Amino acid sequence: MNASGAVTLRRPDDFHLHVRDGEALAAVVPFSAARFARALIMPNLRPPVRTTAEALAYRQRILAAVPAGAPFTPLMSLYLTDQTPAEEAERARESGCILGFKLYPAGATTHSDAGVTDIRAVYGLLERLQETGLALQVHGEVTDPRVDVFDREARFIDTVLAPLAERFARLRIVFEHITTRAAVEFVLGAREGIAATVTPQHLLMNRNALFAGGIRPHHYCLPVLKSEADREALCAAVRGGSPRLFLGTDSAPHARSAKESACGCAGIFSAHAALELYAEAFEAMGALDRLEAFAAHHGADFYGLPRNGGRVRLVKTAWDVPPSYPFGAGELIGLRAGERIGWRIAAVEET
Ligand SMILES: [Zn+2]
Repeated sequence: MNASGAVTLRRPDDFHLHVRDGEALAAVVPFSAARFARALIMPNLRPPVRTTAEALAYRQRILAAVPAGAPFTPLMSLYLTDQTPAEEAERARESGCILGFKLYPAGATTHSDAGVTDIRAVYGLLERLQETGLALQVHGEVTDPRVDVFDREARFIDTVLAPLAERFARLRIVFEHITTRAAVEFVLGAREGIAATVTPQHLLMNRNALFAGGIRPHHYCLPVLKSEADREALCAAVRGGSPRLFLGTDSAPHARSAKESACGCAGIFSAHAALELYAEAFEAMGALDRLEAFAAHHGADFYGLPRNGGRVRLVKTAWDVPPSYPFGAGELIGLRAGERIGWRIAAVEET
């Protein structure tokens, strides 16, 4: 950061993004296209995006929602099910725009009921995936309702992820949206080929934010916010500059009515201010000089993609987040709605 409170980055990528479909898609894509050069789009539509053909069709719908002239490239992930044929790995690789397969343990989060019920059902596919060099993107939580919700990530590491990483010793794995000290320790100490995404909310908030003055449905996501000790461990790891950690917002839009409900949906919408929120988090941890590598280098390097051209300039100027955004027939509540964010985007240079 220079003396005037500004930071300039190579154009960044969001390696974990939900954009839904239809009217919702049209409402949210412009926010990401204004900030990021590329995004890895998650496949948990209803029905899920399971095949290369479905992903290519979905990608066209996303491109149609990108504002004219915005150079934004959607990258795709396929939803892994117990029935995914092993040959899908080669088809995905040949497409040139699919980076991997997403493992959702069945029932772990929004629209994950078609997910994998037993990891052994997909060993054949994982074998082929390892050969292609594509990645496995993992929602890392066990789904056993007897396991405490705050312990599900740590339990997943011990019972699923660590054995999987050992069994498929060359499989490239992204442990998505890590939230705990246990996950940090696993990723930083793991073999080659293992990385993780980190969301803005897990750097900025701990679980107290779920109950600040009353129940806060717009702070509810999965994996759920964790303890302050966990948040500090995430910040320390990011501040340390490990190339295994990179930007993935997990921005996950739901209509206000689905969030503010007796059984509210999991997901925090952050695309309207994603880069600005990361800038706040990095400033708070005294690591603004690490933001560019986290946002624009580590993820591209992990996936073997060229780093983007162009620049984004952020300035330390507060702005008021609107109380809501239009979202099809409903409305969408962004993180920090009705409050302030300390950073804003001053300029984007596309090449
Ligand atoms: Zn997600």
